[in-house]
Amino acid sequence: MPYFFWLERPTTAPRFLHRVATNPPELPPQLLPSTGSASFVGADKPTVGGLVVPAGIRSFQKASPFSKRSRMYTLLSGLYKYMFRRDEYCILILGLDNAGKTTFLEQTKTRFNKNYKGMSLSKITTTVGLNIGTIDVGKARLMFWDLGGQEELQSLWDKYYAESHGVIYVIDSTDEERLSETKRAFEKMITSEALEGVPILVLANKQDVETCLSIPDIKTAFSDCINKIGKRDCLTQACSALTGKGVNEGIEWMVKCVVRNIHRPPRQKDIT
Ligand code: GDP
Repeated sequence: MPYFFWLERPTTAPRFLHRVATNPPELPPQLLPSTGSASFVGADKPTVGGLVVPAGIRSFQKASPFSKRSRMYTLLSGLYKYMFRRDEYCILILGLDNAGKTTFLEQTKTRFNKNYKGMSLSKITTTVGLNIGTIDVGKARLMFWDLGGQEELQSLWDKYYAESHGVIYVIDSTDEERLSETKRAFEKMITSEALEGVPILVLANKQDVETCLSIPDIKTAFSDCINKIGKRDCLTQACSALTGKGVNEGIEWMVKCVVRNIHRPPRQKDIT
């Protein structure tokens, strides 16, 4: 029999549809829609918005705006994750007490985290326990551990070596008296097996002070460490944690090195 659909409310329906609606034809059960957005009302007939769905038209489904929205959401969130996913690396900040480690960390966080309101750099006092901080640079997330540099705390440094991807070693360029002490600590650190192949950035800090040691002075003082450095990336960078000079250059170099170091894969991949 030729019919397409009929209405649930016969009073508003045209004559033909009214007739059909009051005497709906018997439909073989296999032609009734089994699922979908249609609902069954009255004499077991599927309807959508008051219209009975014709038998056999199984694709008669009102497109749900929710499903469209959720598809769009999935697409956009996938794109967001792809664009902002990052790999996480751990960086140790080491050096003697008073070298400027915490000041360097605060300066770094201020420069690389747009909304970071750090403490006043000139009010920072020497690290006793552990300071931590995180910054994002391109596709890398750097997690810093700034460890205390006092002699008794230096014995804790090696507990962090196995987990770290890079080391920033801070030297106080104004403190000539402690140069041999910082060199000894540096030597002990680079000869540790747990740090093999890990890139090292040596920061000659406090270069804003006129009377400080220059980079060549420091390199000369550390010259007998060169053959202990082994196969790893190593850079000596002039820096002032207080003014920010050399901070970006050092961090960008470190990011490049940890990303390309295939021997230490990131701690976490694709975090967003
Ligand atoms: P830490 O013990 O290695 O963490 O050293 P801090 O960050 O606490 O700094 C020790 C002292 O050195 C503080 O008084 C800082 O203000 C000062 N300081 C740190 N970096 C610089 C710098 O680049 N230039 C100057 N002039 N002073 C600095």
